[in-house]
Amino acid sequence: MLFMKIELRARSSEGEPCLVTFARKNGRLSLSCSCAQPDNGGSCHHRRSLLRGEKELLFDPGEAVLLTAALGWETTRTVKAQLEALEAEISKVQTQRKKLEAEQLRLEGLLDALFETDELEEGDRGEDR
Ligand SMILES: [Zn+2]
Repeated sequence: MLFMKIELRARSSEGEPCLVTFARKNGRLSLSCSCAQPDNGGSCHHRRSLLRGEKELLFDPGEAVLLTAALGWETTRTVKAQLEALEAEISKVQTQRKKLEAEQLRLEGLLDALFETDELEEGDRGEDR
């Protein structure tokens, strides 16, 4: 079966570049990275950024041609579209979460206001003594 592999070096905050591998086998894309970012699970930012076509992340700008070739694979375009759709969904959820957090703060403020009168009375009594 047709097997193709493109290896790229990505800039890494650790200094040493990461090796990102685009592999295509039987029409499926396998995207791996040599970095170890357990907190980010299976999708480190090197792979995501290169999949998005961010050439600035390349350790060697000369490898931009290889990145363009890997991004031209049909299977890569499919995965890229899925990545963008999921990122858009995540962004929507984050926006909703911010709105809900603001609403929670507003409601908690109203709840606190229920008790403000009592606090004032207690304070007044304190001043009287
Ligand atoms: Zn990585």
